[in-house]
Amino acid sequence: MEEKPHKKKKPRGKARLIAGKCIACGARCQTACPADAIEMNEQGEPIIDIEKCIGCHKCVKVCPASALEMVFTPEEEKLLTEMAVKSIIEEDEAEQKKADANIKSWRGVWVFVEQSDSKAHPVSWELLGVGRTLAQDLGVELSAFVLGSKIGGLADEAFAYNADKVYFIDDPLLAQYRTETYLQGALSLIRKYKPEIVLIGATGLGRDLAGAVATEMRTGLTADCTGLTIDKNRHLLEQTRPAFGGNIMATILTEKVRPQMASVRPHVMPKPEMQPGRSGPVIVEPFLLPADQIKSAVLEITPLLTEGSINIGAAHVIISGGRGMLNPDNFKMLFELSDLLGGVVGCSRSAVDAGWMLHERQVGQTGKTVRPKLYIACGISGAIQHLVGMQDSDYIIAINKDKNAPIFEVAHLGIVGDVFDVIPALIDKLRTSGARTVS
Ligand SMILES: Cc1cc2nc3c(=O)[nH]c(=O)nc-3n(C[C@H](O)[C@H](O)[C@H](O)COP(=O)(O)OP(=O)(O)OC[C@H]3O[C@@H](n4cnc5c(N)ncnc54)[C@H](O)[C@@H]3O)c2cc1C
Repeated sequence: MEEKPHKKKKPRGKARLIAGKCIACGARCQTACPADAIEMNEQGEPIIDIEKCIGCHKCVKVCPASALEMVFTPEEEKLLTEMAVKSIIEEDEAEQKKADANIKSWRGVWVFVEQSDSKAHPVSWELLGVGRTLAQDLGVELSAFVLGSKIGGLADEAFAYNADKVYFIDDPLLAQYRTETYLQGALSLIRKYKPEIVLIGATGLGRDLAGAVATEMRTGLTADCTGLTIDKNRHLLEQTRPAFGGNIMATILTEKVRPQMASVRPHVMPKPEMQPGRSGPVIVEPFLLPADQIKSAVLEITPLLTEGSINIGAAHVIISGGRGMLNPDNFKMLFELSDLLGGVVGCSRSAVDAGWMLHERQVGQTGKTVRPKLYIACGISGAIQHLVGMQDSDYIIAINKDKNAPIFEVAHLGIVGDVFDVIPALIDKLRTSGARTVS
């Protein structure tokens, strides 16, 4: 049989009188000593017999003047330090084990299905697309969770867009979005079912909710991700997004807390094919916040898109102009081309900064992310902050007179030339050949 390693005993030390502190209280230390190791001298002070002292600390504790202390040999001091360090390490390891076990208890990929009037925001389905890949790589279920009122009809759609399971909280109090009600609903589901990953669309509503949930859960949130993958060895979500003004792409991990939370802007991820007929379990949970505890009320809803404004994110064809267009007047030919192709005009930030175009048309990191069928970049250099907003378009044509412009690196068709020659020629050609819109 293997002999167990000898466990070192913790040194107990010996009691010692601190000179000048005894107040001759009446031999309390002598009475307290269980080893008969203390005699009192004529002044009423203790004389400690070191040989007899068993290091029990009782005299030290009972002394009203703190006139006694414990002393240790240098060897004992060293051993005490070693033991203290070992105990800290053991405590850390035990805590780490507990944290690891807690992390393993979180399982599954969840996508928040944002809805308004029971109609889902398309970003929710885009997220279920990427969610499917993540769930497959982790070997876990992909679930959709929906908050709202009269939202039962969304379950079939969620299943058709990849969900294996759907969680609902359906309550009239959730009819319109309010941070406190949606937060309460989301937290109650997340705390109960513990998904390891939660994905939320980076819409106005989604940004508000994701930040609130992450704060309450004391977890990380990577906003505006442009890539989501799994580190299969460590079972971690790799959340990629532009950082430092878009000059680098950073991959962020949430290692020690759960859930791992990421938001993704609309049109960044491709929408998966619908698979009608898929189905699965629907779990319905109650809404637990009583009406009289809700502090906010929705009085009026003003749609963000007012008449005349444009949503370039929804367009199939975008003709974008940059600083190379030289002035706002020259954008007229881009509008002409976009009319012929049934598209809209977008722009780079330079065009917005110059006051040529409104911000609603800006494509890129601080503008819109777009994924049209056709994107024509005219006089745009292709700075990374612009590329992150359009590089996933189905077909990109770039027109630039600088053959080294970075826009050509993402273009499917590059035209090295002057926009003032190429675009009028293109318009002419479309007109004479009978222009067709791209659908
Ligand atoms: C934090 C941050 C966020 C940003 N967010 C965005 C964003 O959301 N969207 C965005 O677009 N930018 C953004 N930017 C700005 C970005 O870095 C670039 O400055 C901007 O995209 C450049 O715009 P541009 O390509 O129109 O202009 P330029 O870089 O000046 O390029 C003009 C191009 O036009 C070409 N050209 C000139 N004349 C002609 C001609 N006659 N025919 C053909 N080609 C011609 C030139 O060769 C050149 O390549 C951001 C920057 C920062 C720091």
